Order: sequence, then C-alpha cells, then structure tokens
Amino acid sequence: MARSKQENNPLLWKFALLHLTQALELILKERLRIENPVLLYANLDRFVPLDQRRKTVSWHSAIERLKYVLGSDMLQIDAGRLSLAYELRNSMVHFDVNLMFPETYDYYSNVLDYLAKFYDLFLLPNVHTPLSDKIETDLVEELNLAYLRFDTDIVYYNDIFMSKLDRDGLQQEQQRTHLMIAAAQWERVKYGCEREYEQMQPLYSATYADRPCHDCLTKKGDLHCLGCDAERCPRCHHQLISCGCIQITGYDKDYQTRYE
Ligand SMILES: [Zn+2]
Ligand SMILES: [Zn+2]
Repeated sequence: MARSKQENNPLLWKFALLHLTQALELILKERLRIENPVLLYANLDRFVPLDQRRKTVSWHSAIERLKYVLGSDMLQIDAGRLSLAYELRNSMVHFDVNLMFPETYDYYSNVLDYLAKFYDLFLLPNVHTPLSDKIETDLVEELNLAYLRFDTDIVYYNDIFMSKLDRDGLQQEQQRTHLMIAAAQWERVKYGCEREYEQMQPLYSATYADRPCHDCLTKKGDLHCLGCDAERCPRCHHQLISCGCIQITGYDKDYQTRYE
C-alpha cells in the first residue's frame, strides 16, 4: 500500500484492495470456524465427510450465517462496509477498473476500519492475540496512517460510512434537479421514484431503495450522482448513462444533450 500511495499506480492499488478484501473474507470465515467448523461449508443439507475438496460457504452466505451467530452487534459496525468490500472485490476481479488515489485510499481505510473493529469485537475474545501483533513492524506506521485516514476523511452519512468526497458530491448533486435534453428541461428521476418501481415489481424488489444506491450511495428520495448506473432517464426512462439522450463528459460529470 505504501508504494501504491507514492506512485499512484492503479495496479498496485488493485493489489492492496484485493488483499484487504481477501483478508476480510478469511476473518469472517475464521469467526464461523470458531463457532462451528461445519458453518464453513456451502452445502450442509446432505451429510458428506468434510474435507478440503468440499466447496466453502460463499461471501453472502457467510455473512448471513454470521448474523445468526453474532446478532445485531455485527450490523452496527457494518454500515455499508461489507457491501463496499464486496463491490470492490467484484469490480477488481471481473472488470477492468481504474482505481485512483485519493478515492481508493478512502475505500481502503473504510474497509480496514471495519476489519479491525470486527477482529477486536468478535475474534480477539477467542484468539487473544491483538491484530497489531500480527502486523510486520515495518508496516505498523503505514497501518496507523490508514486508521488516521478513516478518522479524518470518512463520515457517517445516509446511514453508511462514506468518504467526505462522496458525501460532498452527493450534496452538491442535489442542486442539479433538471437536465436539458432536446432543448427542454426534464426533471431528474430520484432514487426510489422510478416509474418501474411502481409498475414493474419483480425488476425492483419493494425494499430495493431502503439501502443507499449500490453505485453512487445516494438515499431514497434523493438524486443520483450524474453518471450513476442506476439513474433513469427522465425523457425515455431507460438507463441514463446508456440511453443516449445525454452524453456525460469528463470527470466533473458535465453533460451534453444528444438532441440539439
Ligand atoms: Zn445512484
Ligand atoms: Zn433517455
């Protein structure tokens, strides 16, 4: 991580985040193993001797099982971080993503804080060795900087932990209530107010907007950040980033209408 911060090398950031999310998955599974080793395995419905050839529990099932084991204490420290870790790992493994400083450092410190809190609360009472004792000495300073980053740059907003950058972007975005398309003003579609939400239930479950948007972290009733893959087009009601009514240009999320 130290090198990735200095060089701002997307590939190194990818490695740092991949290692962190992998470590988190192993820690979650270790807690299941402590509770009962059978909880580590995917399919428990039919008795087969447990060995290393058996498929282990998926990320999502591991979390559901942990909720039974640890109760609401586990959810209290989560606040969106388990989803964040999952999305990050998924995007790195399956897509070609460009991860750049400082956003990646915010993600890193956010997931790391969750991992450390989970360890202290749910593993330390069983394993008795502080997490810091497991860290190589030349990495301790780096680790403390990442913890500090969490304290200074991560805020609790929309019921989850997110970076100040993301929060400021969301707050600013709420001012942009309309889009200009084909020389007309169109009122933007807010999260949870999509036409499909009313008319096309299987597509959206009734509770889909109860959690912050998976892409831009906005909350129900607020506007998405322009460029979010969940925003609907007010003109044609398809996905705004792909329908072609506007073209979003540049990192600052400016846009041009396609019908001039
Ligand atoms: Zn969104
Ligand atoms: Zn459209």
